[in-house]
Amino acid sequence: MDRVILIRYGEIHLKGKNRKFFENKLINNIKKKLDGIEYEFLYKRSRYVIQNYSLEVENDIIERLQKVFGIHSISVAHCCESTVEDIARTAKGICKEYGKFRVTVNRADKTFPLNSVELSRHIGGMLLSKFPGISVDLFNPDFIVNIDIREDGGSFVYIDKIACAGGMPVGCGGKGMLMLSGGIDSPVAGYMMAKRGLSIDAIHFHSYPYTSELAKQKVVDLANIISDYTGEINLVCIPFTKIQEEIHRNCDTSYMITLVRRFMMRIAERVAIKRNCGCIVNGESLGQVASQTLESIFVTNSTIQSLPVFRPLIGMDKDEIIDISKKIGAFETSILPYEDCCTVFLPDAPVTHPTLKRAEHEENRIPDWDKLIDEAIDNLEIIKIV
Ligand code: ATP
Ligand code: MG
Repeated sequence: MDRVILIRYGEIHLKGKNRKFFENKLINNIKKKLDGIEYEFLYKRSRYVIQNYSLEVENDIIERLQKVFGIHSISVAHCCESTVEDIARTAKGICKEYGKFRVTVNRADKTFPLNSVELSRHIGGMLLSKFPGISVDLFNPDFIVNIDIREDGGSFVYIDKIACAGGMPVGCGGKGMLMLSGGIDSPVAGYMMAKRGLSIDAIHFHSYPYTSELAKQKVVDLANIISDYTGEINLVCIPFTKIQEEIHRNCDTSYMITLVRRFMMRIAERVAIKRNCGCIVNGESLGQVASQTLESIFVTNSTIQSLPVFRPLIGMDKDEIIDISKKIGAFETSILPYEDCCTVFLPDAPVTHPTLKRAEHEENRIPDWDKLIDEAIDNLEIIKIV
């Protein structure tokens, strides 16, 4: 088959000496993603090429590749000999019948007898005479006939470029611990950090029996949805009921959410370090709710001892977050009405401007709170999401 899928990568181009490392990660991730499909992967004519697949799976391959971070765009291209006649024949075979067009030539093979401008003119003229419904528009074309003349005597001819996810290959940026709730924001936060090359472990706090099995299943489902982009996720589930009960019993209710968050952050950091994660990721967005005012974030973040905490949504509006949530297919699951542990013992009036001093004072009213943390971590459960 002379039909292939051309893969272009984005930012890896900018890498210097360690470019091979990024490329190997990307190739690995592509192969994992296409697992179960028959095809050949080639580094052909200085391009990544998928070939020898059956036409029925072409769309499936394209859809899968669109979820691999590090790929900038792909094209279904036709291969031919680098001769004027063969290129002309191939261009004729794929050209559209109507619309404004231009021809763009990329000539890596400098021995090709015509230069780029000459070949564009030649092919453009030939197409114009063959298809009465098309006309040339160099600056605002409806479609572009691309001709890519490689050094090895072969060329690719294609029209459409299909946009892909961009970013960096997952795994080349280390590993992070995503705080994953059942809401809209945290799955998007995980998606965004994976886009920058971070592989993801996730931690979820549940308050069974105040929260149901369904609520936990929803989080497993969300992890499954984002794992389409992030690759394998180890989901660490932490039993959080006792800690919440102790906070509720001992502390001022207006500080409930602040203290819940402080415990979550502490546990997240300890588990992250144990599991070799280099950072924590959460879905906070400044000012979105009482627990995400600057003061609240300061007070909860103060429990962190060493790891950086990334908040990729910090400057985003809810609308923008929802757009991404829909794009990655998480939204419908995120809005299912199962309660999160944060809604358990929810105070009527949570403090919006907590102080560190008061938070520490309230917290210290809980006897042996450090032991509660150890106990929660001792009883964690890990669910492998692949
Ligand atoms: P989300 O939509 O992600 O639930 P939210 O707007 O409901 O976010 P909060 O409930 O204040 O915001 O949570 C802020 C962040 O804290 C979440 O994005 C998530 O990263 C983390 N978080 C909240 N609840 C949990 C939980 N039960 N388990 C793990 N992380 C949590
Ligand atoms: Mg939430």
